[in-house]
Amino acid sequence: MEGYAELRTRMVDTQLRLRDISDPLVLEAMASVPRHEFVPDHLKRLAYQDGPLPIGHGQTISQPYIVALSLQLLELKPEFKVLEVGTGSGYEAAVLSKIVASVSSIELIPELGSNAQDILKKLKYHVLIRIGDGHQGWPEQAPFDAIVVSAAGTHIPEALKLQLKTGGRMVIPVESGPDQQLVLIHKQSEDYYSEVPVAPVRFVPLRRG
Ligand code: SAH
Repeated sequence: MEGYAELRTRMVDTQLRLRDISDPLVLEAMASVPRHEFVPDHLKRLAYQDGPLPIGHGQTISQPYIVALSLQLLELKPEFKVLEVGTGSGYEAAVLSKIVASVSSIELIPELGSNAQDILKKLKYHVLIRIGDGHQGWPEQAPFDAIVVSAAGTHIPEALKLQLKTGGRMVIPVESGPDQQLVLIHKQSEDYYSEVPVAPVRFVPLRRG
């Protein structure tokens, strides 16, 4: 039976590189973070498969490719300060923390937030976690170079747009009818934001706190 390291290398090669993921920072980080540590024990052998997995409380850890695509779209640089909305398992926060200088992450469900905090601490990933409703962003930590939202909203929360630095990017799944689109927002000047739908996706809903 293959070990987790082999499964992880294969995930990066077949699910990411062979698709359209080429950002070396994203590929390197996803080759190093032990995704199996972020899923429930009975699902560890499935951790490197090409799909999402349940993490309890009706929530999911996103498909590896969707994590990679979202992070690649943000055009991350090592000095960046990044906000994540929807900590969930803590996996994406761990990947981010391998790439950028500062990661703040907000989770609505207290048990998930505290589980994520424990595992991130155990594995020595430096992430600031707060329990709360991500619609408001994290004003005390703002502004951010990039924001990634990993639950689908009915609209793009205004507070999050305002907490982006000029030049900053945000990726958020947005509901449109029965479907969802991953939308890339680029704050091009103080008051101009471009919004481009990038790919059809399926995320859990961004809930009201
Ligand atoms: N990036 C995560 C995926 C988590 S799934 C990972 O790597 O595992 C989305 C998460 O968003 C869930 O844990 C859900 O509880 C959380 N969530 C939903 N609505 C939210 C809100 N308004 N504010 C913060 N977190 C929210």
